[in-house]
Amino acid sequence: MFSFIKNKLKKIYNQVTSKISSIFSLKKIDEQTLQELQEILLSADTGVKTTRSIIQNLKDQFKRGDIQKGEDLKKALEKQLCETLRQAQGKLLEKPLTNNQHNHIFLMVGINGSGKTTFAGKLANKFKHEGKKVLMVAADTFRAAATEQLEKWAESIGVDIITGTENQDPASVVFKGCEKYKNENFDVIIIDTAGRLQTKINLMRELEKIKKIINRHFPDETINTLLTIDAMLGQNSLEQAKIFSESTNVSGIVMTKMDGTGKGGIVFAITQQLGIPISYISFGEKVDQLKQFNTQEYVDELLG
Ligand code: GDP
Ligand code: MG
Repeated sequence: MFSFIKNKLKKIYNQVTSKISSIFSLKKIDEQTLQELQEILLSADTGVKTTRSIIQNLKDQFKRGDIQKGEDLKKALEKQLCETLRQAQGKLLEKPLTNNQHNHIFLMVGINGSGKTTFAGKLANKFKHEGKKVLMVAADTFRAAATEQLEKWAESIGVDIITGTENQDPASVVFKGCEKYKNENFDVIIIDTAGRLQTKINLMRELEKIKKIINRHFPDETINTLLTIDAMLGQNSLEQAKIFSESTNVSGIVMTKMDGTGKGGIVFAITQQLGIPISYISFGEKVDQLKQFNTQEYVDELLG
């Protein structure tokens, strides 16, 4: 299973690995090497700010004589990258579904086309396979096609779904979903929303209204608000992520379309600049192409 996943993510890992391996095999590091490393990180979409802070830290270690050969640099970089992620990863809320009281509510947010509906399907499938009773809620009522898309996922996975009519208030569909979730003893509820970004204030109001409904039904439960970010958009995705994280409390990020990009550095830019942990990566259109994010594993694969 893991080698299959690795194969799908080859592009993202290889782009960095192939360029970086010659640096790591150097017998002696100089300022020029750190310059080269900076270029590699930038070309992998790590972003100017994040790259600068990583390189500055490495330069300090180099000047102190702590980094002399390629191997030292690899170790120091690995530590830096892991640190960058861990600060945010420590805030991860989602816990394994061991007790039936907490963390069973998932709310998908993100711009149109970023992969919310697809990921909602993948998540539903994962929980179904873990033996959970899953309910999906099609609260993207903006387009009829969006509901149909989620219905198809629900049908193929074999889970229940609550839908509304086109242009119905999304919060009222969520209300119906919460009632069913409560009355019929479901374990997991996954709510798909629309990703209209007409104005931040509208987005904020819509999400607030939805969350209020959920909170009223389940005052003691955490809402896992998962923000999907299209990895292929590179630095632009960072801007969108900012808008969403300023509009609502985001618990975790789902990096989508990781199969289509060679820019693995975006993960560091996003976690460092938003302070939001990465929960999952999504890498294809098939139902099982998702993976819970693991910091050490990701950094190890990236550095080869
Ligand atoms: P939404 O508008 O945010 O709900 O996005 P969708 O889930 O409808 O996805 C938009 C498009 O991206 C669809 O054509 C999906 O099949 C595709 N897509 C979603 N996730 C992935 C992924 O991880 N990899 C690839 N290659 N395509 C994806
Ligand atoms: Mg959708």
